[in-house]
Order: sequence, then structure tokens, then C-alpha cells
Amino acid sequence: MLSSSCRVSVSITAVVATAARTTPKIPNFRFLGLKKFQLASNPSFSRCKSRMEVSHLANFTTRASAQPLKNADELIDSVETFIFDCDGVIWKGDSLIDGVPETLDMLRSKGKRLVFVTNNSTKSRKQYGKKFETLGLSVSEEEIFASSFAAAAYLKSIDFPKDKKVYVIGEEGILKELELAGFQYLGGPEDGGKKIELKPGFLMEHDESVGAVVVGFDRNFNYYKIQYGTLCIRENPGCLFIATNRDAVTHLTDAQEWAGGGSMVGALSGSTQREPLVVGKPSTFMMDYLANEFNILKSQICMVGDRLDTDILFGQNGGCKTLLVLSGVTSLPMLQCPNNSIQPEFYTNKISDFLSLKAATV
Ligand SMILES: [Mg+2]
Repeated sequence: MLSSSCRVSVSITAVVATAARTTPKIPNFRFLGLKKFQLASNPSFSRCKSRMEVSHLANFTTRASAQPLKNADELIDSVETFIFDCDGVIWKGDSLIDGVPETLDMLRSKGKRLVFVTNNSTKSRKQYGKKFETLGLSVSEEEIFASSFAAAAYLKSIDFPKDKKVYVIGEEGILKELELAGFQYLGGPEDGGKKIELKPGFLMEHDESVGAVVVGFDRNFNYYKIQYGTLCIRENPGCLFIATNRDAVTHLTDAQEWAGGGSMVGALSGSTQREPLVVGKPSTFMMDYLANEFNILKSQICMVGDRLDTDILFGQNGGCKTLLVLSGVTSLPMLQCPNNSIQPEFYTNKISDFLSLKAATV
């Protein structure tokens, strides 16, 4: 049976009853209001805790534990589309992960549609296309969905007025996608070096025709951008607040975790007291867009990713099958940590296991 998951989101009483059936490894204390005390004294907590996992502790939603992928053919035959996250799945930094070209070729030869989705908004579709090409992968721009593209696609989907402007806190990828979509914008890298001189009586002017502020990962984030975006959101009637993603951390180097796009979004959220509309994972906007664009049923999609709180949640929120690969940020102990409530249907080491697991079942 491929679909062993059984998502439940019900009252605590019902969850306790269901937990005994679906998540035997998870102690019942998680459902009895004793989480804090028990977790503090649980030795495994310190081994596998992470911000992501802690943030999901209060979520009384559980699934059956993830199963190791044993029969790749069965999974491949059960869907028509594979959505792949990129970093940690296809590549790591600038290095291709072993066996990726052969795996993608095999899936294409079986007539599967391949889509690549990333929360990284620093590049446009075209720029990502170049990265795939540099790594020797033949992927068309139309198969790539970055959150920079999602921001522009969202504005298009709501018929954002062409006479309004978009203020961008983020990098080049967002600007390029807005330009391609025909929107006027300001900000972005150009505001990276701007400083504010706080003389007595100083007042910052802002463009009253800004109708949306888009916030993404920005390595030149500064107080000027925070204040400009805040003024637009707070003072321009109806101004939208859009986030490409709210990732807590990103992996700029392999030595440590770095503050992610969520840190920039959090600053604007703090100053405006508004919550953004998120267009990247795990929001379902991109999933809905893809399903509509390619006319596919979400149940015919398998989401493959290396992060539980973005990729796997994205797949689950969209009603897709989910496969976690352990070639990126999530380790097996993190997946199996009692605190982790996000369970994919399957997990495996890397996507090229599709080839070996396939051979083993012949
Ligand atoms: Mg990833």
C-alpha cells in the first residue's frame, strides 16, 4: 500500500485515541498538556530539537510515521508529476548530488512531468535555468518555480494595477520577475547602501503609488528598507504585504545555519503589526498555481524535498504524496524525533535511490 498516512486534526480526546493507532512511538504526554515539562526532561529533545520542530509542538496534527521507501516503482507509477525542491535534493551549494542526472532522465523516460520549486528568491527563473545548465542538467525555464516568480505570479493573479508600484526588499531575482510580468517597482539592491541621517525634524518621504511591498531574502537588508516598506504598508491605503517565504534559516555555507528570509519578513511584520501573504512554501499558492497551469490533480503529484517545515508541509498542505530525502538539512534522527509532528509518507537517502530501489525490485 502506498498511502499509509492518515492525517487527523481533531479534538485532543480524539487525537489521543487516534495516536495509539497511528503514532505508537509518540508518547501520549504530547497530547496531555505536559509537553513542556516532559520535553525539558527528555534526553532525546536536546539531541534533535530545532526551531522548526519546536514551532510545531503546539500543532495537534499527526500522521503515521514515515516509511522508508522500498518500492520506488510503485511510487513512480502512482503519480504523474514530481515536484523537486532544489537545494539539498538536486544540488548542495554548487555541487550536483550524486545520480541526479540519471534519475531525472529515468523519470522523463517514463513520461513523468518534472517541476523544480525553490523558496530562494534571489534568482529569477532564467537565472535558475543557467544554474541547472552549468550543472549539466537539461531543465527548461517553464519547469522552474522560484518564490521570486511566485511573487510576480501572485500579483498577476489578482490583477495588480499596472499604474501601481511594488516596493521590493530583496535581491535581483524578484526585480527580474516583476519586470517580466510588466510591473513597476522600486527598491531592491539599489536601496542596499542607503542610510538615514536622523536630524531633528527629519521625515522620510515615500511613494504613495506603492500598492505592494514584496519581502524576500536580502543580504543588504537595512534600516532604510525597513522604514520605507513600513511607511508604504502603514500609510498607503490597501497596500499589500507579500513575503516570498518565512524560512527561519538558510544555508549560505555548510558550516552553520544563517538567518533566512523569515528574519526580513519578521522585521516588517513587527513594525507594521501585519502578517504577510506568503507565496512560497509551505503556502499552497504555488501548488495551486502549478496544478492550474499544468492541469494536474494534486493527488497525482509527489513532492520531494529535504525540509520538513517547508517541502513536506507544502506537499501535505496541497494534498500530494510526499518523499523526504536525507541528502539535505534533515537527518534521520530529526525525522524520527518524538517532537517532530511532520511525517512524510516516505523517506530515502537521495533521489537516485529511485534507480537502485527500482533495480532491487526487478
Ligand atoms: Mg532544500
